[in-house]
Amino acid sequence: MDILVVLEGVNGTIHRISKEALVAAQALGKDINQKVSVLAFGKDSANLSKEASGFNVNEVILVEDDNLNSYSADAYAETIKQVVEKESPNFVIMGYSYLVRDFFPKVSARLQKPLITDVIGYKTDGGKTLYTKQVIHGKLTVDIESKVEGPVLVGFQSAAYSADNLENGSAEIRTVAVALDSAQLKTTSEEPFQEESGGVDLTAADKIISIGRGVGKEENMPMVKDLAVALKAEIGASRPIVDSGWLPNSHQVGSSGQSVTPNLYLALGISGAIQHVVGMKGSKNIVAINRDPDAPIFEVADYGIVGDILEIVPKLTESLKNQ
Ligand SMILES: Cc1cc2nc3c(=O)[nH]c(=O)nc-3n(C[C@H](O)[C@H](O)[C@H](O)COP(=O)(O)OP(=O)(O)OC[C@H]3O[C@@H](n4cnc5c(N)ncnc54)[C@H](O)[C@@H]3O)c2cc1C
Repeated sequence: MDILVVLEGVNGTIHRISKEALVAAQALGKDINQKVSVLAFGKDSANLSKEASGFNVNEVILVEDDNLNSYSADAYAETIKQVVEKESPNFVIMGYSYLVRDFFPKVSARLQKPLITDVIGYKTDGGKTLYTKQVIHGKLTVDIESKVEGPVLVGFQSAAYSADNLENGSAEIRTVAVALDSAQLKTTSEEPFQEESGGVDLTAADKIISIGRGVGKEENMPMVKDLAVALKAEIGASRPIVDSGWLPNSHQVGSSGQSVTPNLYLALGISGAIQHVVGMKGSKNIVAINRDPDAPIFEVADYGIVGDILEIVPKLTESLKNQ
């Protein structure tokens, strides 16, 4: 087997991040002349395999086992390990979601093969495949090569590729058996966390002021709220702000938040990580304020201001109030 993409399911369908990883695999397969197969397992594996049979892949491998009906890192890792040992793929690819972060390193450890995570692209160079990822908070981009014989495990970052580019086709489903010893499965999981409904709908907003880690501390949040009132804008945020509990989840913009397209998107102290940018790059006018002139957010901004938001924001609010 050439390239194996392992699918993740969500509510009975294939997770968007798996489709994005499959788009990457389809492109890689074409570039290096290798066939792409997919593996469907876990709860709803039959549905996932049926959905995957409509994609342009060589074949769909289906694993069905009662031990996989709810998430268990041990069972998931062991399943992939056994399939890899049986099918000997050259590449094992997954979309690097939160769940996959939990068990894919176990697969790497069990197979003793390298795992390259948060990959945002690849390059092929004279028979070598190089995997691109950002390091040091997106300040540097590096290309990584696996020098190990046998399969390399690759986790593609959310939004690195667009699921819209998935090629459809028709593929056969082949069932493969694995032997899971329930005595060896030491972890079980609870029901997935369900986000509370309600909250702000940023998708309908005309103006959004989005706040990032550059705000520094929670005590500075009222400064942003004052500007939002003066500008009659909604407030969005990067993930660290939501993770810190300074704003509810519904304010998060990005690959695991909302995708927004307002007339004005004012990014305050946001570095411009790909997971944030994918959720706001469709905005009509993007203005970014960041004290780092090399911040990646300036690459998507229509207007960029290099400066300290703690100095600029209160002055901006004041001048708006005086209009
Ligand atoms: C699977 C996954 C999903 C993710 N989903 C999302 C998502 O949906 N949305 C999201 O936003 N992120 C998401 N992330 C996180 C993402 O990778 C980044 O870590 C995050 O976007 C960084 O947020 P930030 O720009 O606020 O913080 P940082 O990257 O820390 O950037 C802070 C910026 O503020 C600037 N700054 C600091 N102080 C000041 C000041 N006083 N004045 C002006 N500028 C200042 C700095 O120069 C820096 O550029 C996800 C990550 C993963 C792995």
